[in-house]
Amino acid sequence: MKHVIVIGGGISGLSAAYRLHQAGIRVTLLEASGHVGGVIGSVRHGDCLLETGPDCWASNKPAAMELANELGLGDQIIGTRAGVRRSFILHHGTLKRLPEGFFLISPMSIKALIKTPILSWPGKIRMGFELFKGVRRADSDESLAGFVRRRFGKEALDRIAQPMIAGIYTADPEKLSLKATFPAFIDMERKHGSVIKALRKRAKGEAGKAQSGGEVSKAAGPRYGLFVTFKGGMSTLPDALAARLPEGSLRLNERVTGLKRIDEGWQVTTETETLKADAVVSALPAHASATLLRDTDTELADALSEIEYAGAAVVNFVFDRDQITHSMDGIGAVIPAVERRRIIAFSYSSVKFEGRAPEGTAVVRVFMGGALNPEVAKAPPDEQTRIALEELRTLIGVKGEPKFTLAGSHQGAMAQYHVGHLDRVAKIRELAGAHTTLAIIGNGFDGVGIPDCIRNANEATAALIKRIESEREA
Ligand SMILES: Cc1cc2nc3c(=O)[nH]c(=O)nc-3n(C[C@H](O)[C@H](O)[C@H](O)COP(=O)(O)OP(=O)(O)OC[C@H]3O[C@@H](n4cnc5c(N)ncnc54)[C@H](O)[C@@H]3O)c2cc1C
Repeated sequence: MKHVIVIGGGISGLSAAYRLHQAGIRVTLLEASGHVGGVIGSVRHGDCLLETGPDCWASNKPAAMELANELGLGDQIIGTRAGVRRSFILHHGTLKRLPEGFFLISPMSIKALIKTPILSWPGKIRMGFELFKGVRRADSDESLAGFVRRRFGKEALDRIAQPMIAGIYTADPEKLSLKATFPAFIDMERKHGSVIKALRKRAKGEAGKAQSGGEVSKAAGPRYGLFVTFKGGMSTLPDALAARLPEGSLRLNERVTGLKRIDEGWQVTTETETLKADAVVSALPAHASATLLRDTDTELADALSEIEYAGAAVVNFVFDRDQITHSMDGIGAVIPAVERRRIIAFSYSSVKFEGRAPEGTAVVRVFMGGALNPEVAKAPPDEQTRIALEELRTLIGVKGEPKFTLAGSHQGAMAQYHVGHLDRVAKIRELAGAHTTLAIIGNGFDGVGIPDCIRNANEATAALIKRIESEREA
């Protein structure tokens, strides 16, 4: 029986190991830490449920929903609480409701643009000019900031696009690749001559569908109705995948320190032993895959090293509800960098999803660091907690001390899809193609979200299984 070693037990590596096992291949999963899930971590504190990494995923990308259903977890999936599907944005020091009728970076109608309280009149007029702006025909990549400034103006970038995007990519919009992150906006510009026009058309189409029984999205920034999680927290998925692996195949606290091509396949060295495998799946941040592959293929390692990563920190607080002055009638807030605060966003976790805290208790999850604030992600947990609490005191009027805090960082965990990303990934794929018994997956290539990582793992393992089987037949 063929043996494949998967390196890294985050959602990418676990999905790959599960698919390989399903295909009847002997699999060993080596994970450096003492737990599965990578950046995913759900922690119980009394009756509260805290998320130390991601707290949800977008259900419109099917891979995560399909996997959850396949694992029998469908009935444990919950959506954001109805009735609070709105959020806030900091505007000159005050939390304002994110306006309805916007799709991420663009208004879907002139009415929505006029009504928004988070742009000045000159800013609104400039944004409205998007309808008449010329179309960029060049095929070269462009930064998200460049695109937004060009079409909607600087105020729209600072006040809308930057904070909306930072919450997803923890990125510097001046460097973020439009082609790799929001290619739909390029299509909208090219096909309709204007993003606003394209969105208006789409909204009309959806309204038409709604009249004939379809669904219409009442967008207020992100479409909150799409975000889902598990009743028992995000760890439900990695835990279920790990439970499906055969006994002895998952090895925790096994950091891989060496990877070498040998005649019969691969030699994988950990801090405690040396293993042999017919094939390897490297399911790590690209820089970690680069380190392991350097002795085997310097060019490939160099190409992998070109994908940059940023760190992020999450601080969870448990408060009594009456310690918070703010109305808490939304799922959280995003903070534009121009506001010069030290956090990217916060969620009212106990409002966003059911079952996160008992009545009268509030769980608040603060997201910090990223490309624009790297020092915070590197700070010790006490310092992160101090900063996050200071910010919450100012932003939502927290009184007294929290009942519980939990802070943690994810160093070098958030891939940054910089301008030229698609070319860099194509080069990596081409170079990796020379190693038919190697698959390189993780969040560095085809999407950072959990569904993207799962899809990427599914596709890469399917191709690897095909290659292994064709070798078997030959
Ligand atoms: C704070 C935060 C919030 C996020 N929020 C969301 C969200 O709400 N929704 C969403 O869809 N996505 C979110 N993301 C993105 C998403 O969670 C990640 O992109 C995804 O989980 C990455 O999974 P992965 O398996 O590729 O990598 P990782 O989770 O980074 O896993 C890599 C694993 O490899 C292990 N490892 C590293 N080196 C070695 C080695 N040498 N040997 C063995 N093992 C090794 C690590 O210990 C780790 O377990 C968030 C990310 C972060 C950090």
